Amino acid sequence: MKIHNSKASLKSTLLPLKNNNKSIGFVPTMGALHKGHLSLVKQAFKENDWVVVSIFVNPTQFDDPADLKKYPKTLDNDLLLLNSVSEKIIVFSPEASELYHQNISSKKYHFSGIEKEMEGKHRTGHFDGVGTVLNLLFDAVTPDKAYFGEKDFQQLQIVKELVILDHIPVKIVGCPIIREKNGLAMSSRNKQLSQKEFSEAALICKLLTTVKEKFHNLSIAKLNQLVEEEFKKNDFFTLEYFEIANSATLKTHPNKLKNVKYRAFIACFIGGVRLIDNIALN
Ligand code: AMP
Repeated sequence: MKIHNSKASLKSTLLPLKNNNKSIGFVPTMGALHKGHLSLVKQAFKENDWVVVSIFVNPTQFDDPADLKKYPKTLDNDLLLLNSVSEKIIVFSPEASELYHQNISSKKYHFSGIEKEMEGKHRTGHFDGVGTVLNLLFDAVTPDKAYFGEKDFQQLQIVKELVILDHIPVKIVGCPIIREKNGLAMSSRNKQLSQKEFSEAALICKLLTTVKEKFHNLSIAKLNQLVEEEFKKNDFFTLEYFEIANSATLKTHPNKLKNVKYRAFIACFIGGVRLIDNIALN
């Protein structure tokens, strides 16, 4: 497995592969890898000859410096996990200065409006940071296909718009959410939970599943109420948002419309750790 810290050395590995018509899949990550990330890598190997995995905690997508500071970093373990999948993985793990040069800041993006919903509303500048870093990473890797998890469904939609807006010739592939045995969506942030918090956090997926089961029988207002009441009863969690939104526009509708695909989205805090999850409803 090859590990590169500079764009130049990454290019020197990729160039001969590209010259030999080898296809390159790309999985951008912030490290602290788990089976969710590995599922993306495995999917990328099904569809490409070689796979680049970037490990980079992108400072410009954090609106809270404390959150950035405590973001888990487990590079040695990440490399072991990747090596267990394949030796044909090319790891790109740059410093911020290598990727951004002097100017560690984000470009302002105007997507179709989806950037203003949910995560965009609650994490100022988050998607500008995501757009900026992906632009830099795509430029360094020039992949044929790039893989993103539905765990960050809004991000996946943004990335699909980003590559059109910035004319980046890459196919974006969405991959399903991988969950723990108790239903909790796998996340690097789960490492920050105590054992008790980890087991309590199963409630998130349980509620989303209940909403899915009741979606055809209850109104959107009633479903919102059901989730809000569950959170009020529970001392462990603080609900940041729960929304049932149109999967394409990510806008909420007061009433269900025919022929629209809906998804439920949730963000909440447990013991100071912010967790997000979502589920397709119809
Ligand atoms: P992150 O390291 O959190 O930035 O995530 C890197 C990529 O892995 C993103 O495309 C995420 O959506 C994806 N990912 C994270 N957790 C999961 C999961 N539980 N299932 C599927 N994909 C995931």
